[in-house]
Parts: sequence; C-alpha cells; structure tokens
Amino acid sequence: MPEFVGAVDQGTTSTRFMIFDHAGREVGKHQLEHEQVLPRAGWVEHNPLEIWERTQTVIGTAMSRHNLSATDLAALGITNQRETTVVWDRRTGRPYYNAIVWQDTRTDRIASALDRDGRGDVIRRKAGLPPATYFSAGKVQWVLENVEGVRAAADRGDAIFGNTDTWLLWNLTGGTHGGVHVTDVTNASRTMLMNLETLDWDEELLSFFDIPRSMLPQIRPSSDPDLYGRTSGRSAIPEGIALAGDLGDQQAATVGQVCFAPGEAKNTYGTGNFLLLNTGTEIVRSKSGLLTTVAYQLGKDRPVYALEGSIAVTGSAVQWLRDQLGIISGAAEVEQLAAQVQDSGGMYFVPAFSGLFAPHWRSDARGAIVGLSRYNTNAHLARATLESICYQSLDVVKAMEKDSGVRLDVLKVDGGVTANKLCMQMQADILGVPVSKPVVAETTALGAAYAAGLATGFWSTTDELRENWQEDRSWEPQWSDDQRAEGYAGWTKAIGRTLDWVD
Ligand code: ADP
Repeated sequence: MPEFVGAVDQGTTSTRFMIFDHAGREVGKHQLEHEQVLPRAGWVEHNPLEIWERTQTVIGTAMSRHNLSATDLAALGITNQRETTVVWDRRTGRPYYNAIVWQDTRTDRIASALDRDGRGDVIRRKAGLPPATYFSAGKVQWVLENVEGVRAAADRGDAIFGNTDTWLLWNLTGGTHGGVHVTDVTNASRTMLMNLETLDWDEELLSFFDIPRSMLPQIRPSSDPDLYGRTSGRSAIPEGIALAGDLGDQQAATVGQVCFAPGEAKNTYGTGNFLLLNTGTEIVRSKSGLLTTVAYQLGKDRPVYALEGSIAVTGSAVQWLRDQLGIISGAAEVEQLAAQVQDSGGMYFVPAFSGLFAPHWRSDARGAIVGLSRYNTNAHLARATLESICYQSLDVVKAMEKDSGVRLDVLKVDGGVTANKLCMQMQADILGVPVSKPVVAETTALGAAYAAGLATGFWSTTDELRENWQEDRSWEPQWSDDQRAEGYAGWTKAIGRTLDWVD
C-alpha cells in the first residue's frame, strides 16, 4: 500500500512539491522560484514553459531525494495561483504568450467598461465576482485581441485556455500532443465565465468577452474519484501516478486548514492575503465588497461555497522593500528592522500597487506612504509595511462580519508571512482577536494532497482530516480599544489618499 500523497503547489513566486504521510505530516519537499516578468508598469507575467520546467524539477528532485517511486504515492494533487492565464496551442504545446498573472492590471479598460452598461451586474449575479482586472476572462480577451494569430487559432479550435492547474495537468498527462484539458470548480469560479449555480460555463458571460467555448477546459470536482488522468512519464516524473485533486490555492488552504463547517475561516498570508469563510452549500451574496466563490467540491457531493476577501499586495510589499528599495536583503529581515522601533512613527503605507481589491475594488488606486516627518526611518517603513498587511486584513474581516453575521473568535492563519512573529502579534493587536497558526504551515499543498487522497481512499472522511490539525502557536491581542480605534482611523484616512490616481 502506498504510504504517501504528493502535492504540487504552483504559486505566484515559486513552485513546490510536497509529500505528506497519513497524519498530514510533511515528509519531503522541494521548491524553486520562477522569474517575475515586469515589462511595463502594472504588467506582471510568468513564462509557462519555465513553470512546467520547475514543476518537473521539484517533483523529480523530491522523489529521488526520498527514494520514492510512483507506487509509493497514492495520488497527486495540484494547487495553483488562481486566475493567472495561459493560452497555448493544443497541437504543439507552445504558449502563444506569457502567462498573464492575477496581479496584472493591463485589462483596466476591459474591466471598467463592463460596469458602464450593466454587464457588471450580470457578472456579479452569475459569477459572484465584481468586474476587475484580477480574474481570467479579461486576460483571455486581451490575448485574443492583442497577440497575433490567436483569434484565428481559437476559431480553428487550436488555441486553448487554462489557469496554471490546467496547464500542468495537460503537460503531466501528455504525450507529444498533450493530455487532458480539465480544471476544477474552484479555479473555474475565478474566471468570470462560470455560473455559480450550474457550475458550467455560461453562454452570456462568454459572449461578454467574446471567448469561444472550445477554448475552455472541462470543469470537474476538486476531488475526483474518476481521476483527471495519470502522469505520462514523458519527463523526470515517474509514470502512472493518479491525478485526483485540483484546487485553487486559497481554496486548497481552506481545505488544509480543515474549514469544513459553515462559519469556519482562514487567512493566508502570501504574495497577497486571502480570507475565506465557509458558507456551506448556500450561495451567500456579498453587500460589502467580498467575492462569492466555490470553496471545494468533493466527488459527487454538492459544492461548498465561501465568501472571500482578497488582498492583492501583502507579502509582495515586503518583496518590494527588498527588490525595489533594497532596505532589506531577505524577506525575513523585515522583522528585525521593524522591531528596532516601537511604532510606525505616525506613518502609514498603503501598497495599492495593483489597485485595491477587497473590500474596495478600485483598480484606479495606487500606492501611498503618508504621515511622513523628518523623524521617520527605514525601520518605521518596515513597521508600516507589516501594519499594512494587518490593516488590510482588518478591513476584510469587518466586511466579512457584516455580510455573514459571523463574529470571528479566532483567526486561523498560514502562508509565508506567518513566519514573522512580530507581524502576527500586530495582527492580533489590530484585529482584537487571537491569531492561531497550525503546525503544518504549508496548508495550501496539504489541502491539495487532502483532495487527492480523499478521491483515492487514502483518507476516508473529512473528520479523519480534522484530527490531523494541530496548533503550533497563538498570539493574544494586547492593545487597548482606544489604541485600536486610533490606529484604524489613521489607516482609513491613508486609504482615502490612494484613490482616483488613474483616470
Ligand atoms: P505564495 O504562495 O503567494 O508564493 P508564500 O506563502 O510562499 O507565497 O509567501 C511568500 C511571501 O511571504 C513573499 O511575498 C515574502 O515576501 C513573504 N515573506 C516570507 N517570509 C517573510 C517574513 N519573515 N516576514 C514577512 N514576509 C515574509
């Protein structure tokens, strides 16, 4: 009997492969970053071929390092940066253009035009999403309109679309002509093309973007006993592993954090932040700037929905301190720098580099640093950066409580930034509720492994998964209510300064 399940986490900054045992413990891992291609202000791209290369290397390396063969893995799950759009030629496997990343704002005009003539409301109602540059449909439309030959190739049925889950599944199962063309309900729910009720591509939504249906992958459950396919072994990856789990990264983290009951929520701190609240089999419409999305669908069960607060820039603001300003040499250094001062010295930093996502949805916003005086130093900026991560999360929690009536009594957290203890203490202080982190911080990969393992009988029920969850540590709020109110008032003023920068 195989003892392990594998998961590929194709993230925004890196691709990792992780191997878990039956108790949900990490057994092995390998991870590689890929290039962030930034050709113009607001444009963010990845090379899909580089991502496929990295995927092969991380799987191959981790498997051989631990002396594992295909028969040691019960199944393989995939999780991915959502919305990021790849269009490729089904005959050659060559992408027509780089992957257009979720943070990319080039489709500004496409998104704002949707709101001028009522199409935006149809998208809100059918897809549960506000029209924004964030989602895939506008990016596909951009490729069709701007990359030579793609429209004609799409009309011939040669050009096909996928997020990076679909791109990897196609390559993992492929022979020379590629393999399956599938995605799961959670990824499909981020395109602006899927109807949340029917869980199928919607003709009216497709017509808004002039996207032919033949470009789109088949939509499958997130955990599929029928399997999406098996690894074809045309690369360094062993042949014959069952591919049985596929979830967008934030939905995977929700599963990894075992948020299986309505009212359970998690907040993931990575490149951006994503808070998801399980709302059960009910579709809850937001009045406060949150998204309605599919949380997961396990086999033939009814889908479970979620309310989501998405924040574009959190951990990537720390990368900006490192890469653009050069005031730290590694992300972890931000903690020491911020700890040199007691507070941010009156300074607020709103990193609205990709506009503002939830709860504002303003693609015309741009970043601002306000409240500066001669007294301020790099240390204050480091602290203001960490505070911006926490205040943006507070805005989302407030919206979530308004929409759902659920009051959080603890916030379950995960993701790269949660390694920063100072930031987690700040989050408890700013939020006024305890923050709790599990032993396995890699909840995204774990969730994909859970989906794949549930499909193949490696795990039998979600209750069994619940037993695997263990707390690593928690942080209690230490601020007074006055301190909290004062800090938040300053933050709200700072947000106001970032709006209306782009016409
Ligand atoms: P993703 O899955 O989105 O690629 P990860 O969960 O791997 O993201 O987290 C990576 C992000 O976390 C990066 O943006 C990085 O700047 C940030 N990060 C990593 N370590 C720290 C730290 N100690 N303090 C603050 N931010 C950090």
